Amino acid sequence: MIAVNGGVTGGRLLRETGGHLAESGPGPPADRVQSIVVVGGGAAGWLAAAALARLLKPSFCDVRVIASPRDQTGAFSEVALPSFHRLNSLLGINENDLLQRTRGTFSLGAQFADWGRLGDRYYHTFGSLGAKLEAVPFHHYWIKLRRSGDDPGIGAYSTATVAAKHGRFAHPSLDRRSVLSLYSYGYHFHSGSLATYLREYARAHGVTGIDRTVVDVRLRGEDGFVDALQLDDGSCIRADLYIDCTGARGVLAQQALETGYEDWKHWLPCDRVVSIPCAGAGDLPPYSESTARGSGWRQRIPLQHCVDNAYVYSSGHVSDDDAAATLLADLPGRALEEPRFQRVAPGRPAKFWDKNCIALADSFLDPLESTGLHLVQTGITRLVTLFPVRRYSPSDIEEYNRLTTLEYERIRDFLILHYKASQRCDSPFWEHCRQMAIPDTLRVKIELFRRCGRIAMLDEEHFGEDSWLCVLLGQNLEPQDYDPLADVLDIEQVKAALFRMRSMIQDGVDGMPTHTQFVADHCLAQSEGIFE
Ligand SMILES: Cc1cc2nc3c(=O)[nH]c(=O)nc-3n(C[C@H](O)[C@H](O)[C@H](O)COP(=O)(O)OP(=O)(O)OC[C@H]3O[C@@H](n4cnc5c(N)ncnc54)[C@H](O)[C@@H]3O)c2cc1C
Repeated sequence: MIAVNGGVTGGRLLRETGGHLAESGPGPPADRVQSIVVVGGGAAGWLAAAALARLLKPSFCDVRVIASPRDQTGAFSEVALPSFHRLNSLLGINENDLLQRTRGTFSLGAQFADWGRLGDRYYHTFGSLGAKLEAVPFHHYWIKLRRSGDDPGIGAYSTATVAAKHGRFAHPSLDRRSVLSLYSYGYHFHSGSLATYLREYARAHGVTGIDRTVVDVRLRGEDGFVDALQLDDGSCIRADLYIDCTGARGVLAQQALETGYEDWKHWLPCDRVVSIPCAGAGDLPPYSESTARGSGWRQRIPLQHCVDNAYVYSSGHVSDDDAAATLLADLPGRALEEPRFQRVAPGRPAKFWDKNCIALADSFLDPLESTGLHLVQTGITRLVTLFPVRRYSPSDIEEYNRLTTLEYERIRDFLILHYKASQRCDSPFWEHCRQMAIPDTLRVKIELFRRCGRIAMLDEEHFGEDSWLCVLLGQNLEPQDYDPLADVLDIEQVKAALFRMRSMIQDGVDGMPTHTQFVADHCLAQSEGIFE
């Protein structure tokens, strides 16, 4: 049974053949994939369509997007990781134009408050911690210095962190010898405006947008593949390959194909979000804020004309009303909308690619490290790399699923670390996090780090050593020992080298404009309104 749920009109069951369908699909079937339909017109759907149109060209493959005109997008705002630059260069996007039209700002990373213990504060920024000294990674020298009782904290060796703390921003230097080249940056976007921006790009590059809602999914009797999508005007769409970007609804993959779902709620306890934008509060910080709260965490994302606020929480530990009250009590400005509630389903589809359907958009992971758009990008890149040799190529599908599963599991472990590595015991939620069992891959990583400060990097890991270090050290996990090779330099040499490094970073950051000034100079939005 395939009638689509979740706010769309119920339709008739279309599994039987012989229904009268007004088809608008491509021509006769060919051996390779010649047509793709993306379902879902949020940022994920249009990002996928824009990238496919650019990579595949309309003469090679017809791309259409079914975008329900009635719905609001899932998130009000979102952080894009530095990997978004790859999309910029693929699509030839002008960064200033993009930020003007999405009321966007720059992101050097995130500030985490109250995660390890109440009162703690650290940054996970996009850049390296320290620079190469001798044989071993920088942080071993830092631990050695710290043991000698003389150190201001590892963040002082990160250009991005120092800039974030001082509210500064500039593009990284192209001179690889400069400390100002040792970081990257991402963006904060208004989600709806980003979807609009990508939609315009995709349409200008040959993608057809269909402003309709899918009300039924027809499966082929012989093999259960998606055969056709019925829309709310009674017409029907066919394609060789379908991409499900319907967010948490999973209209094709979960509802129609019943692909199945691996639940990770026992590791990632937050399953609800309440969000509300509010008026801006003066200067624009070049980072988002993630503050641990009694039953989850609160996010703030600075846009040019407002601040987006969300409380991501565990429905088992706090009611919707109390979560909304907590969020409203803590707004940095006047509320601009009514609170909006959403479900997050921590987990992953049992198969990302099942039959002729790919579940691409990520409503599956906790938004703590802002991986949604990144995962759409890697999903598209992987699809193009493994573009099916024939319309159904089991080995390509298997490889796609293997790599995507690894990537999700690595990110999952990184997210779990934030919850597990907390020393808080001031609420049942944090007690649960401290007590919960964790995946072996993460357990081994934590144990190795605790013992000797080493970080094991696994295949398909998106977050690098420096990201892991930010969270491990930021949440007070101290290694028992440092690498003995750090003793190749004596303590005075280490002191001198690290002092020099800190000074160079501070001098470099002192020369940067404020983030607020940088945005005003480069990409100030023309319109005062905040919504499209
Ligand atoms: C609170 C929250 C914060 C997040 N923060 C970030 C972040 O900072 N960074 C990040 O990268 N990711 C983030 N994400 C993940 C986020 O989901 C995506 O990155 C991004 O917003 C794209 O969303 P989407 O397009 O998948 O989903 P949505 O914006 O929900 O879009 C789904 C689309 O599917 C359409 N649809 C549904 N059913 C049908 C149907 N039957 N027929 C036709 N269309 C249909 C809807 O109309 C909608 O347009 C966050 C998610 C949440 C919930």
